[in-house]
Amino acid sequence: MFKIDVNANLCIGCRFCAVKCEVFDVRSDVLAFVADADKCDGCKVCEKCPEHAISVTEA
Ligand code: SF4
Ligand code: SF4
Repeated sequence: MFKIDVNANLCIGCRFCAVKCEVFDVRSDVLAFVADADKCDGCKVCEKCPEHAISVTEA
């Protein structure tokens, strides 16, 4: 299992994470959020978020 954190203060809603990974979704009101953490395999592609808003740690 992995713990995925999205820092809402940094996210600008660019959708990079949601395009790259089905764990994420983006809504106009909350911007990026973790929709289904169970699908995470720990690849860390999402940590390439241009705003450095995402971190993934082994839980
Ligand atoms: S990649 Fe980063 S800035 Fe872009 S929507 Fe995801 S969390 Fe927000
Ligand atoms: S580590 Fe990989 S599988 Fe997990 S949320 Fe990030 S991009 Fe998706």
